[in-house]
Amino acid sequence: HAKELGRNRFCFFTADLQAQAVERLQLEAALKRAVERDQLLLHYQPRVDARSGRMCGVEALLRWDHPEAGLMAPGQFIPVAERSSLILELGAWVIDRACQQAREWIAQGWSDAVVAVNVAARQFTSGHLDTVVQQALARHGVPARALELELTESMLMQEPDAAVDMLRRLKAIGVRLSLDDFGTGYSSLGYLQRFPIDVLKIDRSFVQTIGCGPDGAAIADAVIALAHRLKLRVVAEGVEIEAQRRYLLAQGCDELQGFLFSRPLPPQALALPAPAHALVDG
Ligand code: C2E
Ligand code: MG
Ligand code: MG
Ligand code: MG
Repeated sequence: HAKELGRNRFCFFTADLQAQAVERLQLEAALKRAVERDQLLLHYQPRVDARSGRMCGVEALLRWDHPEAGLMAPGQFIPVAERSSLILELGAWVIDRACQQAREWIAQGWSDAVVAVNVAARQFTSGHLDTVVQQALARHGVPARALELELTESMLMQEPDAAVDMLRRLKAIGVRLSLDDFGTGYSSLGYLQRFPIDVLKIDRSFVQTIGCGPDGAAIADAVIALAHRLKLRVVAEGVEIEAQRRYLLAQGCDELQGFLFSRPLPPQALALPAPAHALVDG
């Protein structure tokens, strides 16, 4: 019976508004249970140093191991969670689990591991993000430098003054802050200078056009220049082909992330980088 409902959710009722509301509520209820039933998990995608190719961190990406639908990507359920305070619970779970994993990697010898976590708008504007972060770091005994929070321009621009305040509190804890999908949101360059952030992540859409036409790389070039002028690190996401890697390296992009290097993987499947001293020793 549950299986049948599951199928209905995806096919028959989608045209009907009332049924859509029911579908949303069902998905929301199932998602709530997913937290309790341990169906959520994090996959991790490497971020590599553009020059050395060495893995210098990972991005945690949420997955839902749904009993009927299988492994679901965040696009299929994060928007549902974002409609209610469920996103706060989910977001806190992600931060906690990412810290637990960071602790494990550090213990395994990856001493400078950095785990980046995506933050939802509601989570950021709730006013409690700093507390959630501090508690998770303390619970797992993880140094703040091992955690990076990925924010978006739009969530900062909702209430820029309150945002600056929260960003300062997070910086005071010592975590790294990045702007995800940079260039796709509503942003103001003036505010960019006021926000105490460390990293710009060039959106995948601007990486994918590199090599396409005379202006295909224009935005990527501009973001790299802007980041370095503001003394920020710059990461390119969605790097899929060698030509993109070579171009971004030549332009001075600091870190690269994308299917060219690895898809997001369960933590056990990740090959940890050799300790930094091993590289120096040859
Ligand atoms: P994002 O933060 O921009 O994450 C990058 C997305 O691009 C991931 O999709 C990743 O699998 C995908 N990707 C990475 N490399 C490539 C590539 O070379 N080519 C292509 N085509 N795609 C690539 P995913 O895992 O489906 O996540 C989608 C979005 O869901 C994320 O975009 C992020 O905004 C959100 N998300 C993921 N995990 C969380 C979470 O824990 N909390 C919140 N609030 N949002 C999350
Ligand atoms: Mg991200
Ligand atoms: Mg992104
Ligand atoms: Mg993106």
